[in-house]
Amino acid sequence: MNDPIIIIGAGLAGWSTARALRKQDGDTALVLIAADSADVYAKPSLSNAFALRRAPAQLISASAASTAQTLNLTLYATTHVEAIDVAGKTLRVRDAQGTRSIAYRALVLATGAAPIRVPLDGDAAGQVLSVNSLDDFAVLHARLAAPAPLAGAARDIVIMGAGLIGCEFANDLALAGHRVHVVDPQARPLAALLPESASAQLQDALAALGVAWHVGASVRSVDTAAQRLRVGLSDGGAIDADIVVSAIGLRANVALAQAAQLECARGIVVDATLQTSAPNIYALGDCAQYASAGARTLPYVMPIMHAAKALASTLCGNSTALAFPVMPVAIKTPALPIVAALAHPDQAGQWQAGLAADAGLWRFVDPAGVQRGFVLLGKQTARRTELASATQA
Ligand code: FAD
Repeated sequence: MNDPIIIIGAGLAGWSTARALRKQDGDTALVLIAADSADVYAKPSLSNAFALRRAPAQLISASAASTAQTLNLTLYATTHVEAIDVAGKTLRVRDAQGTRSIAYRALVLATGAAPIRVPLDGDAAGQVLSVNSLDDFAVLHARLAAPAPLAGAARDIVIMGAGLIGCEFANDLALAGHRVHVVDPQARPLAALLPESASAQLQDALAALGVAWHVGASVRSVDTAAQRLRVGLSDGGAIDADIVVSAIGLRANVALAQAAQLECARGIVVDATLQTSAPNIYALGDCAQYASAGARTLPYVMPIMHAAKALASTLCGNSTALAFPVMPVAIKTPALPIVAALAHPDQAGQWQAGLAADAGLWRFVDPAGVQRGFVLLGKQTARRTELASATQA
């Protein structure tokens, strides 16, 4: 019974759970284990840091050690959890000293997600970068800081994927003075999120910043060519580039849970109390698939904050069912600020574009006339709270 609550993961989900728990209980033995340094940083700041000239170290808001001390928890950073023994309630962990076993009384999986990689042809396919952590950001930052093969500091950067992260990096890197090329098999940016006319406005706004669009095409190959990269496209075209960044989506990190026979689908399956299919094991954040969200993963900040608070209460003995409110996401494209609150993908309905004073506002309305989502562009983003309260989750 004296075994600790163990949290695996030091991203927003792991640290937020520890903080929320400590607000309710200052004494319970608490351990946080992370494969990375566990330093505290806001991941959303990775996609607007280049224009602000922020270096990786400047993105760290607090060191792991000081945060662990403040929260009165035992931290094992740069420690990899290799296996969960569900019946024995122990973890097998590996660090620089070797492998050992740690017992838990409750376990929280906050293991995040990993960038999806598609196999590409070419001798430089291995040079394609993804940015989903501070370490990844440091690699891209170092590549941009290295002397350019051509005169001038500007680079040609190919971004694979015109989703939320691809569009944010396109805007940020263009603002930082680079020549950005976005390649996406869809016909328009943010195709999964926005109505067509809103996508068109974003495409125009980023084009005005100098972003070159290659829509309806995908990257097939990356080869070295005269100290640079030649990026081959599915439509037969090619782009000469210095850096290729893949932003084609994330896949929940479920391997550890899966190996322990926990139920997994698109993420680690959790019920309304965030419990996995095993008692005393919970999950939240990018690794989780929430019953409270209609069996969806929700890889955004707000769901994590709500989930961490509910889970802390459950861990303190007050079993708490999580009910997500409407959670609009702000897309960091200063060329055209966007706020989007999305309905469940299975929700029937249609977009209704606002006119006159409502231009730049789209409501997603179900067949009964109930508003289930919305998109706000530009100045309309100031109406986020008003629109959220008119939306039914
Ligand atoms: P992560 O941050 O991925 O943390 C996972 C942790 O688990 C890490 O510490 C890792 O080391 C550890 N781990 C994994 N496996 C193991 C193991 N076996 N053993 C030990 N440790 C392990 N959302 C928004 O709402 N708004 C935004 O503007 C926004 N912008 C974003 C911009 C970018 C560039 C990106 C990539 C994401 C953005 N997001 C945004 C999404 C949001 O940042 C994420 O949903 C959130 O940070 C995920 O946190 P997490 O703790 O679930 O996962």
